[in-house]
Amino acid sequence: MDNMILVYKSDENQRTIVKVNDDIVIGDGNVQIMAGPCAIESLTQIDNIALNIKNNASILRGGAYKMRTSPYSFQGLGKDGIKYLYATGKKYHMPIISEITSINEIDEFIKYVDIIQVGARSMQNYELLSALGKTNKPILLKRGFANTIDEWLQSAEYILKNGNKNVILCERGIKTFETRTRFTLDLSSIPLIKKLSHLPVVVDPSHAAGHSELVKSLSMAAIAAGADGLLIEVHNNPSVALSDSSQALNISEFKDLVESVKNIANAMGKKTNE
Ligand code: PEP
Ligand code: MN
Repeated sequence: MDNMILVYKSDENQRTIVKVNDDIVIGDGNVQIMAGPCAIESLTQIDNIALNIKNNASILRGGAYKMRTSPYSFQGLGKDGIKYLYATGKKYHMPIISEITSINEIDEFIKYVDIIQVGARSMQNYELLSALGKTNKPILLKRGFANTIDEWLQSAEYILKNGNKNVILCERGIKTFETRTRFTLDLSSIPLIKKLSHLPVVVDPSHAAGHSELVKSLSMAAIAAGADGLLIEVHNNPSVALSDSSQALNISEFKDLVESVKNIANAMGKKTNE
């Protein structure tokens, strides 16, 4: 696709390193771990999770505006959720990532959020992508679950073309005929993206798997395949989580995952930034 001017590598060694804050970058050859609940449920919940994962994750995730398949499912705490996440990130000195669902939320996200996540369901919201391209915030662009790698790269092009070079791609699994997993994690996209594009690529094994017991294996495989980081759903009490409960890791499962990922990264000559 030769109309993708900016997202493709102009030479073999071109690489984008996205700066999140003074200490944290994504795409420098090391591994960043982003973790937290699918949805922020209360200040106490996000505080408790952050307290327990702060030594094993470098970036805190939490959804405030949730894109739920059913309109009757928990839709997130909205503005309050962003406030709780922001306060918690400041308290534990962790940058925060949260998903934006509408162009109307841009000012709020620019003010409070360190990395703006564009979810799988919004990957082709071109108006949103163009608007985010006019900001200079790091944008984590998830792959749509029914989209090809080239469609995903074209979506990144919308952000780049509008001037924002701080794009992180996130593979989160695609729809296939398999039903034992929620989606199928497309590990091939990692080396393919590395070959085609200068942008960093991270992996979300939680949504791909849909089951907590698969998340560690997929995380190790993603790092072995060359991913620049992971986005993992962790909950203080997964069985009562208000969204994505079956894929959430508890605190000790998450710590165990980080240990294993660290071993893989170290074997590859990389460091993990937890
Ligand atoms: C999420 O990260 O909570 C989420 C909704 O992910 P996705 O857009 O990949 O489904
Ligand atoms: Mn989720």
